[in-house]
Amino acid sequence: METVAPFIEVIDEIKEAGGDAFRFCFQCGLCDSVCPWNRVRQFSIRKIIREATFGLTEIEGEDIWRCTTCGRCPEHCPRGVKQIEVGVSLRRVASDYDIFPASVRSARTARASLISEGNPLQGDRGKRADWAKDLSVKPFTADMEVLYFVGCYFSYDPRMKKVAAATANILNKAGVNFGILGDEESCCGESIRKTGSEEVFKNLAKENIKTFIDKGVKKIIVSSPHCYHTFKNEYPEFMVHFEVVHMTQYILELINDERLDLKGDFSKTVTYHDPCYLGRHNNIYDEPRDLLKKIPGLDLIEMADHGKDSLCCGGGGGRIWMDTPKEERFSDIRLKQASEIGAKILATSCPYCITNFEESRLNLEYDDVLEIKDITEIVNEML
Ligand code: SF4
Repeated sequence: METVAPFIEVIDEIKEAGGDAFRFCFQCGLCDSVCPWNRVRQFSIRKIIREATFGLTEIEGEDIWRCTTCGRCPEHCPRGVKQIEVGVSLRRVASDYDIFPASVRSARTARASLISEGNPLQGDRGKRADWAKDLSVKPFTADMEVLYFVGCYFSYDPRMKKVAAATANILNKAGVNFGILGDEESCCGESIRKTGSEEVFKNLAKENIKTFIDKGVKKIIVSSPHCYHTFKNEYPEFMVHFEVVHMTQYILELINDERLDLKGDFSKTVTYHDPCYLGRHNNIYDEPRDLLKKIPGLDLIEMADHGKDSLCCGGGGGRIWMDTPKEERFSDIRLKQASEIGAKILATSCPYCITNFEESRLNLEYDDVLEIKDITEIVNEML
């Protein structure tokens, strides 16, 4: 194997890959003070930005892979440095050299699965719609009201398939004429792009865009904030525009339009976790809370870090596929915050958040302390 020097000159490659904004940094360190990593271990995005300025970034180490792209540092940076773009461009350089430290290698496995099967979970493409068997879910046709773009985790992950089933039940109860793409759906590509695999992202995006156009798709509803983000903010790079609505927004609309009626008494204390890609990246803070407030009897309380200051679950930026030692998981902190305020349910609306929270629930032995639910699961219980 070719030996790579610990520091290599990458400045032009970083610029070429889109990370040119680092030159504005004046090293104030505000980014480090708000970065969630510094709650669990030492990590300096400021240092990475500084090194990138000189083209001396160490791309063999783990640090360039740490950023979860949670969006906190760009919000606080007084100089408009695009930390996420700089980080992603460094990962592109590392990917081009095929340099992946041990804890990151599962991202390479996810990439291989995306190329061969269109999902990062090594699921058989032909089984993408198996979750919908016996649920009265039809293939999408152009005359339908909306396309339900299910997403990879909801299609293959056993925990998340329950959320997809709850969603299909809600849509059917509301009389929504919807369909899915089944094995013609590919991963939206958002997270693999953040790991630096730009070509894989582009190919996935082109596959989906072609399918959307061929099938006459106009309005897309999604369960994942990552699909929402990339359809809304990244697919327009391909000169296309599709209306995209997150499931929490769509269900709230169904209730407000009196197409869905919630019954009973939930009578549980719930706290809501803002997923980074719904909140900070897309400014959707109110609709998930407004939807929870529609649940009869539900008592909604807030954690210490909420809204634009929400604490990242640790799963963005492709971190969901990478190894994080137990003592360094942000999701553990989040569960403790939820239980400290007396919540019995930690509700959210993102497959990565739920996956990480369920893992933390096991680690912390919180079985009797806290339940983790997608908001759609709560709505589904009240139909
Ligand atoms: Fe540089 Fe912005 Fe971080 Fe300050 S907050 S150190 S200007 S990147």
